[in-house]
Order: sequence, then C-alpha cells, then structure tokens
Amino acid sequence: MTDFHYLSDDAGIATILWDQPDTAMNVLTFEALEELSTHLERALADDAVKGIVVTSGKKDFAGGMDLRVLGALRAASASAPGKALFEGLMKMHGVLRRLERAGADPKTGKGGKPVAWASPGTAAGIGLEIALACHRRFVADAPRARLGLPEIKVGLFPGAGGTMRVSRMLGLMASAPILLEGKMMKPAEALDFGLIDEVTEPEALLETARAWVLSAKPDELIKPWDRKGWKMPGGAPYTAPGFPTFVGAAAMVHGRTQGVYPAAKALLSAIYEGALVPFDTALRIEARHFVSVILDPSSEAMIRSLFLSKQALEKGALRPEGVADRKVSRLGVIGAGMMGAGIAQVAAAAGIDVVLLDRDAEAAEAGRAGIAKRLEASVDRGRLAPGARDAALARITAGADMGLLAGADLVIEAVFEDPAVKAPVLSAAEGQLGPQATLATNTSTLPVSGLAKASARPENFIGIHFFSPVDRMMLVEIIRGKQTGDAAVARALDFVRQIGKTPIVVNDARFFYANRCIIPYINEGVMLVAEGVNPVLVEHAATGMGMPLGPLQLVDETSIDLAARIARATSAAGEGRPPSAADDVIFTLEGEGRLGRKAKAGFYAYDEAGKRTGLWPGLAGHWPMAPEQPGVEEVRHRLILIQVLEALRALEEGVLTDVRAGDVGAILGWGFMPWSGGPFSWVDMTGPGRVLEMAEELAARCGPRFAPPALLRDMATGERRFYPGATRRDAA
Ligand code: NAD
Repeated sequence: MTDFHYLSDDAGIATILWDQPDTAMNVLTFEALEELSTHLERALADDAVKGIVVTSGKKDFAGGMDLRVLGALRAASASAPGKALFEGLMKMHGVLRRLERAGADPKTGKGGKPVAWASPGTAAGIGLEIALACHRRFVADAPRARLGLPEIKVGLFPGAGGTMRVSRMLGLMASAPILLEGKMMKPAEALDFGLIDEVTEPEALLETARAWVLSAKPDELIKPWDRKGWKMPGGAPYTAPGFPTFVGAAAMVHGRTQGVYPAAKALLSAIYEGALVPFDTALRIEARHFVSVILDPSSEAMIRSLFLSKQALEKGALRPEGVADRKVSRLGVIGAGMMGAGIAQVAAAAGIDVVLLDRDAEAAEAGRAGIAKRLEASVDRGRLAPGARDAALARITAGADMGLLAGADLVIEAVFEDPAVKAPVLSAAEGQLGPQATLATNTSTLPVSGLAKASARPENFIGIHFFSPVDRMMLVEIIRGKQTGDAAVARALDFVRQIGKTPIVVNDARFFYANRCIIPYINEGVMLVAEGVNPVLVEHAATGMGMPLGPLQLVDETSIDLAARIARATSAAGEGRPPSAADDVIFTLEGEGRLGRKAKAGFYAYDEAGKRTGLWPGLAGHWPMAPEQPGVEEVRHRLILIQVLEALRALEEGVLTDVRAGDVGAILGWGFMPWSGGPFSWVDMTGPGRVLEMAEELAARCGPRFAPPALLRDMATGERRFYPGATRRDAA
C-alpha cells in the first residue's frame, strides 16, 4: 500500500502527497508514517530539492490517526504494552521533529529547507499535528474545512507533539479551547487563533505554498521554541504571569471534569512539566503522559464507545443484511410542535424535502417560523451560511392537508402523546402513502406494537425516537415493533445516517432503552430525598461521578408534571410496581405547582429570569434531613447501579441486542458517565464480580430494585466480559 507519494519538479520543490488508497479521508497508520519518513529523508538528501510541500490528493488533508492502530500496538506486546507504545510515539516524534528541523544544524538552526503545509480542507488530530511541525501552514477556504485536535473527546489528548507545539505557540490559556475542548475551527478562525498562517482560494492553494517555499527566508524556518531565550507566551509555570494561569487552569479543568477524565489531567500535567524543559525533553514528557492515558481503562473504553462503536453504528452495524439502500428524498412530519419542528429542521438541513403538517395551517406555519428563528440564530453565531439557511427553509412546506404527504418515502408522526390522538393520524397518513413507504412514530412512552394496530401495513411501521432538543441531541433510538419488517429498519437507519445522527436499534418494550434507564436514575435521586438525604449530597454525588446533571436538576429540566404522568401511567400499567416514596415527592411538588424549570420552581429555586439559584430550601420542610447522612460513595453506588442494572435487564430481555448500542446509547442519550464508556464498559472495567457484590448489598439494604439479573451472575461466575480483552481498573 502506498499512502504517501513523492513528486519532484524542475523548480526544486519536492511534493509529499498523502493519498491513502480506497478511502475518502486519509488516516495515519504506522506503515504510512514510515513512508512519510522515507520521502522526507529523500527530499532532505537531494541537493536539487530546495524545499518541500506537504499536501493531500484528497479534498481534505486528514481525519486523524487510525485509532485501531493504538489498540493493535498495545495488543501486539501484551507483556510490555507501555514500552511498545512509548517507542511508537517516540518514533512519530522523531519523524515530525525531522520535518520541523528539515535538515537544519541543531546548534545554529541554520541550513534547513523550507517546508510548507498545504491543506485543501479538513485536518484533524495527527493531520493537524503534522502541519504544526511544518514551517508555514496554508489552508484552502473550503466551506466544509475544519481544523482542530479533537482527541480529548474520545478520552485522549494530542500525542504527536500537538500538545507541546500548540501550548508553546499560543500559551496555556489561548490553547485551552483547542486542547481541552477539542474545538474544530473553520480556516478563518484557525487563522485568528494563530494555528495556521494563510487561508487561500482553493485554486490558489498549491501555487501560494510553492511561491512561499521558493522565497522563504532562513529566519522563517526556525520554530520559536528552537531559538535561544524562548519564553512561553502567557508565562511558564514559575513566572509571575504564568503561576496564576497554571493554578487557575488546574482548578478550572478539575471543576469541569470532576477529575474523572484521565486525559484532561494528563494533558495539563504534560503542558506544565513540558513548559519547564527544552522541546525535545518536552516531547518525551508528552509521550509518557500519553502512554499512561492510553493504558488507562477509561481511555480504552471511551475510544471503544465514542469512536469505534459509534462509527460502527453510524456505518450500519445493526442494519439488516440484504436490503438495498433506502434513502429518503421526501419526508412527512405530522405535528409541528417542539419535536416535529426539530425533526423537520434537521432533515431539511440535510437536504431532504419536508412536508410539515399540523392540525391547522397556522399551527404548521408557527412550527416553520420557529425553525426559521433557530436557523437565523445559527447564522448569527456563524455556524450556518445564509445560503444554507435559505435552502433549508425552501425545502419545508407547511400545511394541514394530509394530501401533501403523497410521494413521501417516510412519514414521522410527532403529535400529542395520546394513543387516541395518534391512531387516526397514523391511519390517515398511511392512506396517502405508497406500499413501499415507511410510517414512523416519535412516541417516547407508548409501545410501538400497540400503535401499529392503526396501520394496515404494520411491517412498514416503526418507532424513530428522537431526543430533545432534536438539533443538538445526536442519538436516535429506532424501535422495532413486533411486526416491523427489515425494510422499515433499513429505511430508518438510512434516514438517520442522512441527517448525520447516531442510531441504535432496540426492540419494543416499555420506555425502550434510554428512558427506561433514565427514569430509575431520577427516581433513585428523588427517593434519596424522601429518605432524608441532603439533596445537595445527591446532586454532587451524581455530578462528581461524571453525570452531566444530577437527578433533581434533570427532573426539573424535563418537568415534574411529566414525571408525575409517567409515575401514574407506570402504576396503572401494573407490572407489580410497588408504591414508591419517590412518587409521593413528585406528586407533592406537582400539587404545589413546582413543575420544574418551566415554572421557575421545582427541586431548585429560580430567579425571575429562570436561572437556578440553588436547591429549594423548602425541601427540608417536607422531607427533613436525617441526622446521619450516608457517605458520598454509598449515594454514588445507588445512582450508578440503578442505571446499570436496568441496562443489563434491557440486554437480558432482548430489548437491546448489542452491547455497543447499549453503551453508545447511554452516553449520547442520557449522558451516562462518558469516561466509563457506558454501562456495559463500566461493568467490564469494574469487574462483574464486584458489580454483583454491590448489587447484592444494595438489594439487601434498599430493596429488590437492585436485585442482580441472572446475566450479571453468569458474567461474574464465568469471569466473562462484554468486550473480551477489556481491562479491569484494578488490573490496569
Ligand atoms: P408538542 O405538544 O410540542 O407538539 C405536538 C404537536 O402536535 C402540536 O403542534 C399539536 O398541534 C400537534 N397535533 C396534535 N394533534 C394533532 C393532529 N391530530 N394532527 C396534527 N397535528 C396534531 O409535543 P412534543 O413535545 O413535540 O411531542 C410530540 C411527540 O414526541 C410525543 O409523542 C412525545 O411523546 C414525543 N417525544 C417528546 C419528547 C420531548 O422531550 N418533548 C422527546 C421524544 C419524543
């Protein structure tokens, strides 16, 4: 395989062109790194070569590192994975350092050849790290081009010199959005940050880079950190300006991450320690921290769920085999309320023609006007081009006539959550559709198989469950009813792919998967309050273990009346559910009109503007705090186990058919501790035996809701893993 190509010309410019075969986007492998190195040495050794242009044969430069390589490197040397990884990283540093020096004398910094980086589009991760080693960086002003180092989002940090180079170029504070948030930027923004040097017209990219190579001055070829007397912008740790910056950054990062993300900690340590030593030593420091992060079970789990599994699901891992591609070109959405309008918006933005219906034309138009307003806000924030906004809006036809659905490939119903309202809407819609069209419901609580009774073609009927707000939440739960056929599942998956979201496929059961797990989490938090546990302790225990919201804040956001409705419906459905102390709390707040954030009153108190001002002091009047409070670990165990056991039951009962969907769905659907890689990864990491012990102990103390499912017992007895080879925390 040849990923990098070498081209030379009469002007004395060697072009190193990255064009990985059989793929739309370059990703770096270790073999390709060898090729890059070979071409570089050839260009440096050839006296006829005056300078080098590094570019890509594709529309983008690169998507990053092939993350499977890290796993392979680690697995290949099971006895000493740290050593193998460290050596691999130092090799990468060596190649990029050669590129950066480009043959210059290490003492004087003189005599190097100019190296320009010319990117036709996106460069992420290692793609941008290669660029940072070059002397001058040119990027074409392509509309979809994005530049950045997103490693932190999958539990890593930039480990090919990116951490050291960016922090040395920009200083700690200015590099925080790039390194700690993994911000992806348009070329113009990257230019403002000082990450790149020039944005060119796409046609002029190579010509501009080449002209620079031929006219580069020797002084432009020495990086600031290779000059005598270099000082870190914003100050190194032991300087008057640097000291408070580093101390403040450590506190800020810890506050945001609660200390549960190893990569954020290691990144900060690497910058701190690296800032105190010469650059080559700093690279060794970066490599050591990077190895420690890769060997941490949390990073292993995050890479698996947030990168590998997520990508597999997006590429159709759960798509039925043998069904031809079933893209949607015309979508019908019924119900132009919060969800329906959101669905119409994301579909139109993805280039699909949409018919948006409601009970009357005014309601439908109001839905469309809401979309226009949100798109306008995106334009104001610079996230959307005015042309794209106009095109999206032009694709949406609003109205009240079911006849407009004719010719739709897919219709999604998002009317009130009431079977008596939904059934006639569904059958009227179906009457307008051809035999191949798919009919879907966005219900969040009603069984899909029950709603299918309104359909004469139940094999074409399916649940497509979006989360709110639709434009921001990336998960879509696809629910296969008892009679849903493969063609409908394939169509739903193809649609989710078209709109760029991540799908999981689950079987029909009460609350499907995500809500089934999130409701017990909320209930457990509320129950703790009923037992007299300090609500502050409940919330902190949750956020401190990496949940984005504590259960009390979450129920305030989703609304107390919704929680009350769900509690009543669940009790009415029977299912042997014992009366819960949590229900009393919810009904009491509902009775007092404390309906959550929308009412500016709930578990929290709010100011006039609707901003939370703290937990409502009145809670203690209703549910006095016990004189003896439990430890934070005890509260955490309850809040974690209640979710994890429900996820295990969903798998055991066949609602989930794939643990990857369970893990990805948990993180994207309800923010389950992302550092853990999801509930199944958490069980692997903690060890099924230990999880069983925790569940048994809680079942004895708190009741049968913690009773371990047989699946957990089997896993514990057989020392099994959901992901064979997953590392346990105590073995790491
Ligand atoms: P909503 O009240 O904001 O919107 C419902 C819309 O349906 C309203 O505009 C209403 O006028 C319209 N409608 C009602 N009856 C109709 C009929 N017979 N014909 C045409 N239009 C009709 O509700 P929502 O929050 O958008 O929820 C819609 C559906 O999505 C529900 O099934 C809900 O359970 C589900 N859902 C909601 C959420 C959420 O967070 N709100 C999340 C996932 C799924």
